[in-house]
Amino acid sequence: MVDAARAILRTLRQAGHEAWWVGGCVRDALLGRPVKDVDIATDARPEQIAGLFNGVRLVGASFGVCVVPVGDGRFCEVATFRRDGRYIDLRRPESVSFGTREDDARRRDFTINAIYHDPDSGAYFDPTGGREDLACRLVRTVGDPIARFSEDALRLLRAVRFAARLKFEIETGTWEALVARASTISAISPERIRDELTLMLTGPHPARAVRLLDEAGLLGILLPEIAALKGVEQSPVHHPEGDVYVHTLAVMDALEDASPVAAWAALLHDIGKPATREVRDDGRITFYGHDVLGAEMAAAICRRLRFPGEEADRITAIVGRHMRFMDAHQWNASTMRRFLSAPTIREDLAVHRADCLASHGKLDNWVHVRDRLEGFVAREEPVLPPPLVTGRDLIALGLAPGPAFRRILNEVLDAQMEGRLAGREEALEWVRARFGTGGEMGT
Ligand code: ATP
Ligand code: MG
Repeated sequence: MVDAARAILRTLRQAGHEAWWVGGCVRDALLGRPVKDVDIATDARPEQIAGLFNGVRLVGASFGVCVVPVGDGRFCEVATFRRDGRYIDLRRPESVSFGTREDDARRRDFTINAIYHDPDSGAYFDPTGGREDLACRLVRTVGDPIARFSEDALRLLRAVRFAARLKFEIETGTWEALVARASTISAISPERIRDELTLMLTGPHPARAVRLLDEAGLLGILLPEIAALKGVEQSPVHHPEGDVYVHTLAVMDALEDASPVAAWAALLHDIGKPATREVRDDGRITFYGHDVLGAEMAAAICRRLRFPGEEADRITAIVGRHMRFMDAHQWNASTMRRFLSAPTIREDLAVHRADCLASHGKLDNWVHVRDRLEGFVAREEPVLPPPLVTGRDLIALGLAPGPAFRRILNEVLDAQMEGRLAGREEALEWVRARFGTGGEMGT
C-alpha cells in the first residue's frame, strides 16, 4: 500500500502536478501507528488523474475524488484540492469547487487531519499547526469550532472518535463548541451515526468514547438506554467494579478485537437492568429477566439505528443469551451442542469473557464452553450431527406432515446427541414407539 502510494505521488509529480499524502495516513505515521489507507491530495483535475493511471474510478466526479487501484483489491483515494461552498442542513456543502492546497486544508475537520506530507522529500505542508497539536495530543477543529460543527454535525462524533481512539484531549474551544452543538446531531442520518459509533466501539479505548459522548451530552440523545445505566447500583459481591454503567464501560474495554456485532452486543448486554431491578427483603439486588427485556430493547435500538436485519438479529440474540453461560456446567450434551451451533457463538464467547473480566473475573464457564467448541473444531466434527431421522422418514412412517414435525425431529436429534440412539434403525423404532403411526402425532 505504502509503496504503491509513493509511486502514485511520483507519477503525478512527473506529470507536472503537485501531490501530497494527507489525512489519517500522515497523522498515524507521525504517531508511529500502522498506516491503513493512504489518501492523496493533488492539484491535478479528475480527468488528468484518470489519464495517468489504469482502472481509475471517479466517485462523484463533482467532488473530484478518484479511486486508483493499487493491487490486492486495494485502493488509494486521489482527490483534487477543493474548497467547500456554503453548507446547508448541517450535512453537506451546497457546492464544491476546485481550489488551492490552502483551501483544501481549510475544509478539513481537525488540524491533526490536515497535515500534508511528501514521503520522498520529507516535506510537510501544515498550515493549521497539526503537528503541534499531535505533539500536545489535542483534537482541535480547523478554524472556528462553532462554524465547523455547524457546517457538518457528523464532526461532533468524529471529534469524540479521534479523541478516544488516540487518547487525545479535545482542545477547550473545540470542546465547548461540541457541547454547545450537541443537540444538532439529530440532523445526521441514523446510518451515519451508527457507522461512526461502530468505529468508536470497535476501536481502541471504547469506554473513553462512551464517557466523552456522555460528557458532551451526546449519549443521552443517541443512546439514552446507556445513559440510564448510570447510578444503577448492583450487588457488590457479583459486581465489585460498581454500577451498571461502570460495569458496561469496563466490559467494552475488556473486549479484544471485537467485531461490530460483538461490540454493540457488549454495549447493550445489560440495558434491561434498570427496569428489572429489585431489592429483596434480605437486601439482595436482582435483575430477573433483564436478558429478555434487554434483547427487546436492543432490537428497538437496532431498528432506530437502521442496522441491517441480520446484524440486528445477531446483536439481539447475543444480548438475550448472555446469561445462559451461568449454568453451562449443568448442560447435557444436546443443550451444549445446540448452544454451540448458534451462528453467534464466537461473539457470545467474546462478550461473555469480557463480561466476566469486567466483574468477578471468573472464567470457568467461558473456558468450559470454549473448550467444547474447540474440541469440535479440532476433531473436524460438526457441532450438530447429521440427523439419523429426517422429515422424509417421518412421512414414510405414516406421520402426517405438519408443525409437529420440527418438534419430533428436534427430540430425535436431542436423543441422538445424548447418546440414547445408536443408529438409524434404533432411531426409527424410537420414533415409531413414541409417536405412533397412521397420523397419530403424539402430544
Ligand atoms: P481513519 O483512520 O479513521 O480513516 P481518517 O483521518 O483517514 O481516519 P477519513 O474519514 O478516512 O478519516 O477521512 C479522510 C480525511 O478527510 C480526514 O483526515 C479529513 O482530513 C477529511 N475529512 C473526513 N471527513 C470529514 C468531515 N466530515 N469534515 C471535514 N473533513 C473531513
Ligand atoms: Mg481514512
